[in-house]
Amino acid sequence: MKAQAELSTYAGPIIGWGAAPFRGIPAARVEAILLIEDSLAVANLIVSRLEAVTTASVVHCTSLAEARRTFSTTRFTLAITGLHLPDGHDEDILGTLEKAGIPAIVFTATHDPQAQSRYVQMELLDYCVKDEENSIGRLMQTVIRVLGNADVKVLVVDDQGSVRQSLVDLLTRHNFDVREARSGAEALTILSAEKDVELLITDYNMPDMDGYTLVKRVRENSAYSQLRIIGVTSSSDRRVSSLFLKAGANDFIYRPLMPEEFQCRIDSNVDTIKLIKRLRYYAERDQLTNLPNRRHFFETVAAMMQEDQALGVESAVALLDIDFFKKVNDTHGHEAGDDTLRRVAACLHEAIEGTPHMTARLGGEEFAFYLRGLSDKAAHDFCDSVRRTVEAMTIELRNGTQISITTSFGLANVQIREPVDNQLNAADQFLYMAKANGRNQVFSELSLTA
Ligand code: GH3
Ligand code: MG
Ligand code: MG
Repeated sequence: MKAQAELSTYAGPIIGWGAAPFRGIPAARVEAILLIEDSLAVANLIVSRLEAVTTASVVHCTSLAEARRTFSTTRFTLAITGLHLPDGHDEDILGTLEKAGIPAIVFTATHDPQAQSRYVQMELLDYCVKDEENSIGRLMQTVIRVLGNADVKVLVVDDQGSVRQSLVDLLTRHNFDVREARSGAEALTILSAEKDVELLITDYNMPDMDGYTLVKRVRENSAYSQLRIIGVTSSSDRRVSSLFLKAGANDFIYRPLMPEEFQCRIDSNVDTIKLIKRLRYYAERDQLTNLPNRRHFFETVAAMMQEDQALGVESAVALLDIDFFKKVNDTHGHEAGDDTLRRVAACLHEAIEGTPHMTARLGGEEFAFYLRGLSDKAAHDFCDSVRRTVEAMTIELRNGTQISITTSFGLANVQIREPVDNQLNAADQFLYMAKANGRNQVFSELSLTA
């Protein structure tokens, strides 16, 4: 249920939290893995290990014919395959998967020179030999890495079509979200429109702008923590690498690319991207509810306010406090209190989902909203709708007891050029009035004139 009483008139860019997926819960993307393995024992082992590390669905086939039949109904992110099946071997299997456009990880008992050479040519995601130490662990690592790559947007910049295409194909096979640009100028246009590009792979020699200049230009706006850059060149001049790195690139590779080296460098840069994302995620979140925390709210809202004021967009700040929350703790225990806070947080998140607004847990049983593009009345109605949704909610505690709660809101319209803390102070004063006036209500300027 949406607690949005009136459609926002907000016309600016949507960078609010409501527009982003609720990062507390991984996005529910449907991933499918094809497992082609005729030994049931091996298949069971792989399936159980996969189930422990991913939510992707696994389709198990014991023959190539059975695998082929699944192609029309399922789109697989990757396949894990042996090389000896009752109805096909090595090249048949890899050829079939290639034709179906399914990148493969070979998991086989024996070394196969042809498959191995395909791996070296980068057409396989990985090549694992069963008897090697920790082969199944490595298999799982590759699967996790490839599935995780879907969240990483990469921009490939090269003026030569065929060179660019081979990189794009390779990255696409590895499940990255790939963009491409034919020149430095095009790369800058894409980067300014798509702020979520996290890895830039750029050639050095390009007619309009060399890679060095491109990296310098890109670094004017993108910090190391937001964008990793790998430079590539076929120049034999060894000074190119230091030029690239000094301009702000993170890594550098000379052509011809050694496929395994290239893959290792990409993996290592992507690992850093993922690590930074994780650190940022935890730094920005409230641990109990997964909502943005106080610091993140202040930082984000300060930027949003600047943007809204520049665009002349109306906005409002609301503080929300649970009524008599201490009683929940005192009567039902601290754990019940925690569960109640999580339920309220989920409700607030749901209220802003798909909107430009933002919500956060400021601490204790106090939450906040930043409402973009809502007039006084619309913001008031929005808060009142959330208030009613919380009031109507039944919270079932772990011991089976059902409770319900109410909330009080203080709502202030954003005054031009006032800093965030002043706006929150105003909302806090209205919240105080809501409490004094009997709780379970929204108090704003409108309440004074009503
Ligand atoms: P009012 O209607 O005036 O807001 O009354 P209240 O009881 O909600 O407010 P008060 O500030 O007296 O009590 C807030 C309580 O919230 C006290 C504190 O122990 C509890 N609390 C704060 N953080 C947490 C938390 O993370 N988990 C739990 N379970 N309780 C918390
Ligand atoms: Mg309270
Ligand atoms: Mg309180």
